[in-house]
Amino acid sequence: MSVLLSPKPVILTGDRPTGNLHIGHYAGSLKNRVALQHSHEQFILLADLQAFTDNADNPEKVRRNVLEVALDYLAAGIDPEVTTICVQSALPALAELTFLYMNFVTVSRLERNPTIKSEIQMRGFERDVPAGFLCYPVSQAADITAFKATLVPVGEDQAPLIEQTNEIIRRINRQTKCGLLPEAQALIPETGRLPGLDGKAKMSKSLGNALPLAATSEQIRDAVRRMYTDPDHLRACDPGKVEGNVVFTYLDAFCEDRALVDDLKTRYRRGGLGDKAVKKQLEDVLDALIRPMRERRARYAAEPAYVLDMLKHGTNKARERTQATLDEIRAALGLFAF
Ligand code: ATP
Ligand code: MG
Repeated sequence: MSVLLSPKPVILTGDRPTGNLHIGHYAGSLKNRVALQHSHEQFILLADLQAFTDNADNPEKVRRNVLEVALDYLAAGIDPEVTTICVQSALPALAELTFLYMNFVTVSRLERNPTIKSEIQMRGFERDVPAGFLCYPVSQAADITAFKATLVPVGEDQAPLIEQTNEIIRRINRQTKCGLLPEAQALIPETGRLPGLDGKAKMSKSLGNALPLAATSEQIRDAVRRMYTDPDHLRACDPGKVEGNVVFTYLDAFCEDRALVDDLKTRYRRGGLGDKAVKKQLEDVLDALIRPMRERRARYAAEPAYVLDMLKHGTNKARERTQATLDEIRAALGLFAF
């Protein structure tokens, strides 16, 4: 008896190659990607064209980081035998889809996107926003739909961008009168956005407050030692505050032993547990998380030809897939195919 296997649901995510990935990326998205790569068909996009939207003056930085971020994926446990890693700029169908989709979204809608608004402010663009930057949510919609992805594991800052993608999908489906494109669902972890080592709202590549996936044991120890706790918790015997205490936020995000974290919280709140002891727990947790990643990364970094070959293979596979979707959309819109 033959069994008909239904195709696996498709995941698409990507990262801007603007710097090394850090534990915020791990908590926000990479952990889910590693966990889901066997039950789903997964594509990961090195979004170098999206990185250009605010780094056009530094193409060398973007090029270098394509390889760096690829190594970070392998370090985190992305298995290139089951996950396809590909390079955005080498997939022309994505650029063509972006150009088509621009006609299904208004400039004012793009300007109202809360993520874009805050990113424009953070980058100090004021009125000089590169057109490509304003339109990057459209290119993200092209990326997601070109793979017909239904699940996108991302950090919470990305939710408005997935909503924007679904608006475009609905307009295209309405226009072409066929359910050509499936809607995409964001998979956002409960832990929310990981704050920086300095306690700022977001651990970020560009704010100098990140712990990279390849951090050494000394870097981990140093980062934890300097970490912000409860400023009123002066002596170990004093009761301390757990809320807003970065050490506990990180324990919540990375310590699998929930009972241990709950016990530490109770003792800290009651008084009698010093910052030094809690920090030692966190240091051990982070070291256990990062050490295997650091070791895997070093092994792959010693084989740059293997990494390039993997990217070439992944990009070739993705090129076929994205071109097939583009052909379907072109046909549905009645564009000539000579
Ligand atoms: P850039 O400053 O270049 O925009 P970034 O650190 O924001 O870099 P992205 O490549 O834009 O990284 O985002 C990659 C993915 O990681 C996204 O899904 C994003 O939501 C997630 N992410 C980034 N920083 C964090 C964080 N501190 N906590 C949780 N998720 C995060
Ligand atoms: Mg970002």
